[in-house]
Amino acid sequence: MELKLSPEDEAFRAEIVLFLEESLTPELREGADKRTSLWQDVETSMAWQRILHKKGWAAPEWPVEYGGTDWSLVQRYIFAQECVRAGAPALLPMSLRMCGPMLIGYGTPEQKSHYLPRILSGEDFWCQGYSEPGAGSDSASLSTFAASDGDDYVVNGTKIWTSCAQHADMMFALVRTRKDGKKQEGITFLLIDMKSPGITVRPIINIAGVHELNQVFFEDVRIPKSNRVGEENDGWSVAKYLLEFERFAMASVEIRRTLDRVEALAGVTPMAGATLERDADFRRKLAQLKIETAVLEASEQRVLAKLSAGESPGTVSSLVRVQGTELLQRADMLGVEALGYYAVPNQPEALEIGANQPPIGPREGITFVPMYLSNRMKTIAGGSSEVQRNIVAKAILGL
Ligand SMILES: Cc1cc2nc3c(=O)[nH]c(=O)nc-3n(C[C@H](O)[C@H](O)[C@H](O)COP(=O)(O)OP(=O)(O)OC[C@H]3O[C@@H](n4cnc5c(N)ncnc54)[C@H](O)[C@@H]3O)c2cc1C
Repeated sequence: MELKLSPEDEAFRAEIVLFLEESLTPELREGADKRTSLWQDVETSMAWQRILHKKGWAAPEWPVEYGGTDWSLVQRYIFAQECVRAGAPALLPMSLRMCGPMLIGYGTPEQKSHYLPRILSGEDFWCQGYSEPGAGSDSASLSTFAASDGDDYVVNGTKIWTSCAQHADMMFALVRTRKDGKKQEGITFLLIDMKSPGITVRPIINIAGVHELNQVFFEDVRIPKSNRVGEENDGWSVAKYLLEFERFAMASVEIRRTLDRVEALAGVTPMAGATLERDADFRRKLAQLKIETAVLEASEQRVLAKLSAGESPGTVSSLVRVQGTELLQRADMLGVEALGYYAVPNQPEALEIGANQPPIGPREGITFVPMYLSNRMKTIAGGSSEVQRNIVAKAILGL
């Protein structure tokens, strides 16, 4: 979908395009191009974040007083679009899009002034500690316990599926502080220094062979009470607020990027004396995905309009999430189909940044299979499609 832009917005777009042209080094472009997993690799992502931070653009959606921008909704949208068009690396959401907005909404003045600048600069990298073995979709069943002891809590238990914990300086976590009563009313929100004695991080390797998930163990870990966000036993309110930010992602931009790459691959894939892009069945599938992506984009813009009016996105972010994640998986699938036999070789060496070994098969398609495998997780992470559909059924359809 193309928005009709004012001359002012066109000038803004030109400024962004120029900035991207000047700032994206070949290494950053290659890192972005070779992303094979749910998250951009931390090194590439943080290098790009530091460049954006220097310019004041690391978190465009934050309020200006905390280091955000005064960009309009349309300008933020232009920025996101142009970053993808230029092949910029993806920023990791845990610090900038989850912890930051949560602290802006619920943090104490001290927490805001200490952590927000460090999030923007990348000095602190955060991971999210919600899920536990036996407490995923039903995260209120969590049992990692924080016992009150003077000015500290003493934390024992384990978190699982913790993305990028091996790189994290800090974790925002939900812990149990009361065992009786309603389970949601015994949860507290804590900010945990990952260097605290008693924390162990154990890797979990994903289906694409990438290490980005972990299990984190806590053994008598002391966390000062000043690191609590909100009141004791009221962490569920903070978590619910944060989830609305987590669940909303501009998936359409990534889907368009995937479809562009699929189209580029089809343009070089021989098929019955021509190329795959001339094949009627392929063209129909591609067109269908493009139409659905345009529909998704319209829904995303509705959410963005709410955000820009200072409202929280609400449950419609669940709807957008289901559409976005499932559409992306179908786009990945079309890429794998287009690869044909070249989907079979596993060639991690060709995916290394700086690799000079030619890939087996078309260069345009080397990331398709690992992305297809990794993106299977998109309909689980941050709340599975089934759970999002339950939310839509209850909160939007009133069923
Ligand atoms: C790649 C990835 C990254 C992640 N990163 C993080 C992270 O950084 N931090 C973090 O805390 N967690 C993280 N998670 C965990 C994620 O939030 C959970 O996997 C998710 O909430 C689902 O929980 P579960 O895995 O325990 O599955 P379960 O809750 O056990 O669900 C199993 C199946 O049952 C279905 N199901 C469950 N409840 C219902 C219901 N009420 N109605 C219908 N169907 C239902 C689910 O849809 C699913 O198909 C990550 C997960 C993945 C895959």
